[in-house]
Amino acid sequence: MPLAGAPGVGAASYEPRAMEGTVLHRVVRENFETFRAEIAARTDGGGLPQFVEREFRDFLTCGVLSRGFARVRCEGCAFERLVPFSCKRRGFCPSCGGRRMAELAAHLVDAVLPHVPVRQWVLTLPYRLRYLLAWNHKLCRAVLAVHTRAVLGFYRRRARRLGVPDGRGGAVTVIQRFGGGLQLNVHFHSLLLDGVFAEAADGTLEFDPADPPSEEDVARLLATIRRRVLRLLARRGLAVEDAPDGDPLAEESPALAGVSSAAAMPPSPSQPTTARPSSAWRVMSFGRRSPRIASRSPRTGKCS
Ligand SMILES: [Zn+2]
Ligand SMILES: [Zn+2]
Repeated sequence: MPLAGAPGVGAASYEPRAMEGTVLHRVVRENFETFRAEIAARTDGGGLPQFVEREFRDFLTCGVLSRGFARVRCEGCAFERLVPFSCKRRGFCPSCGGRRMAELAAHLVDAVLPHVPVRQWVLTLPYRLRYLLAWNHKLCRAVLAVHTRAVLGFYRRRARRLGVPDGRGGAVTVIQRFGGGLQLNVHFHSLLLDGVFAEAADGTLEFDPADPPSEEDVARLLATIRRRVLRLLARRGLAVEDAPDGDPLAEESPALAGVSSAAAMPPSPSQPTTARPSSAWRVMSFGRRSPRIASRSPRTGKCS
């Protein structure tokens, strides 16, 4: 019986986390106090918000025996093991994040997704939107709703053209806040049933699988999402042309606003950290290398 770790994985043995030996742990351990002091100095002593500091501090003590542990004992053979407490933070602790990811994935496979093909759709956003969505969760959900409705509608319309008038799809989305380099990059990973369910003549539900989308399908869908998101932003007074002078996040926490906007910027060594909305929108329409909305075949996608 596993004493800890991901459910159902590594059932034979338990490996302590040993986060202290990792590069991330060393970077945080050796630089956190300097970083904190520098931010405080730059913001007239304002510093980082409490919840951010806590994220770092708890991470440094994740899985450290001196910070508390459980004693686990096998009733059969009386074997005992000390299991240190984890930090259980949601920020960037790889150990706690990894466990949560494994649990959620197992739950989706075991209890949520029906046994039909599933396709992953990924929507990434222009830099300016990433920054807005990073702290405005209502707006983030609204943009996600635009994305999900558009892709579900895409499946429904395709099925209708093939003679399935009232097909219903399904979607699960994980909002991802990081890119591959740990930079701030709010984007969506959506799992969509790759087809629609419809009621057969005898009243049972039948699944109609869809053909893979073409490049043109994806481009058209992206254009629709872009148009609707622009409309949404305009309705909320957040369109590029009437972006407010004040930045609500900067007023709430100058330190967090500074760090977030720097982290959400495109990789450009010499540019000051100001958004360039027009070029950002081009990125959303058609990226330099590929359209920014991508769809992947069943269960083969990976986070980037
Ligand atoms: Zn035993
Ligand atoms: Zn942790």
